[in-house]
Amino acid sequence: MTATVQPTASHFINGAYIEDSSGTEIPVIYAATGEQIATVHDATADIIEMALASAKAGQKIWAAMTGTERGRVLRRAADIMRDRNHELSVLETYDTGKPMSETLYVDATSGADALEYFGGLAGSLTGEHIPMGQDWVYTVREPLGLCVGIGAWNYPTQIACWKAAPALACGNSMVFKPSEVTPLCALKVAEIFIEAGLPAGVFNVIQGRGEVGGALVTDPRVDKVSLTGSAPTGKKVYAAAAAGMKHVTMELGGKSPLIIFDDADLENAVGGAILANFYSSGQVCSNGTRVFVQSGIKEAFLARLAERLDTAVIGDPMDGATTFGPMVSENQLDIALSYIAKGKDEGARVVYGGNALDREGWYIQPTVFADVNDGMVIAREEIFGPVMAVLDFDDEDDVIARANDTEFGLAAGVFTSDLSRAHRVIGAMEAGSCFINSYNDAPVEAPFGGVKASGVGRENSKEAIKHYSQVKSVYVRMGDVEAPF
Ligand code: NDP
Repeated sequence: MTATVQPTASHFINGAYIEDSSGTEIPVIYAATGEQIATVHDATADIIEMALASAKAGQKIWAAMTGTERGRVLRRAADIMRDRNHELSVLETYDTGKPMSETLYVDATSGADALEYFGGLAGSLTGEHIPMGQDWVYTVREPLGLCVGIGAWNYPTQIACWKAAPALACGNSMVFKPSEVTPLCALKVAEIFIEAGLPAGVFNVIQGRGEVGGALVTDPRVDKVSLTGSAPTGKKVYAAAAAGMKHVTMELGGKSPLIIFDDADLENAVGGAILANFYSSGQVCSNGTRVFVQSGIKEAFLARLAERLDTAVIGDPMDGATTFGPMVSENQLDIALSYIAKGKDEGARVVYGGNALDREGWYIQPTVFADVNDGMVIAREEIFGPVMAVLDFDDEDDVIARANDTEFGLAAGVFTSDLSRAHRVIGAMEAGSCFINSYNDAPVEAPFGGVKASGVGRENSKEAIKHYSQVKSVYVRMGDVEAPF
């Protein structure tokens, strides 16, 4: 039996929990058992209105504070998150099904890193002075205003923090809508902000399905929309935001290449491929799911990969020994299984896994296909599950062209012991987040985001500041004005 994770109410607006049970029910299902562990409600029109009005008012109060004062609140929130890491990790596991061996290390902790990093920057967000002879121009870095954050279900705490931290550091307010699949964690982030001293109304959370997101994106009071989600949703949300000339950040999906040359350290390459495909049961946007392996190392790579996958501990996510948990939902399990069936139909060779597990919850085996070719569906479409496609190659130029032959461009990785080749190949990748002899590292100090259909804008690092602020320029004339008449 699971613990009680029912939140005080569905929404968090103007510094307090609030319920409106006339909204459609959203059941919260624990992925490891299929059991309903909580219920929240879709935001009604009244709730959406309250959230937007509160964020509009809260933003004025927040932006009037100094950057140092804002930063102090964010850094206090980071400390509280770290103090409560265990409790927040348990909740993240209930929300997503990811094992505690992951959530203890990469969810609240990554959220806290973002709050600390952007809290540290908040006091130094300045403009510049531009001399123009005796005249001069100065610039002011101003907040955008009211930002909407819309999250995917794979990292509910992290996504809320990655969006809120830079937005709030710049003096914006936010209305955040989590995915309906994982509504619990963002509410805790909102609670912690209030405890850290954030003025009421600056960070609000409302629940709902896509229509609630749509209502937020089209509201004229909203100045910016930051979405983490799939490419098809991204296109819809980007178009709706464009109609209102709103700023956007789009963190979307991918089908990223991981290229392993035969001079790579085999153990590291196998480890990189595991990190690129099976962390969070494969539900990571930047995953390197097209693993191109040079012919000379291919059989050794597949054999060692299978040996290491045998050591995965699949089981109860709350057990600290478990290293591989269930899929987030039955729907996502079905999607992954349907792609596995397509891979088999198209003639790819299953070298590991390939089936759902016969137990309660939404479990699937880590799965590896070999002999995959570029045209197969499993090599072209984002699966968002633990399904690795191994493709063969011989020639460097050929693999670069094939790696880039995709609509996506989120991430790319290369394993080789040849330093020049590593930089040459990564330099040729059409991707935003790249890795050499590593995969899927996402420290807050590094920009994160994609090119092509994988999105626009960057999260994390100093780059994110540009996406949550705008520059006002002021020309100052020191002498007389000369006019033609
Ligand atoms: P979806 O695109 O289905 O949904 C993303 C969010 O958008 C959800 O909160 C969803 O609400 C909401 N939404 C859906 N339709 C609309 C609309 N018309 N207007 C406004 N909001 C809307 O993605 P998933 O939740 O299924 O997440 C998985 C996807 O996220 C994958 O494709 C993955 O690649 C991507 N992703 C990208 C990351 C990145 O940083 N690049 C990181 C993590 C995931 P609801 O779910 O309630 O319908």
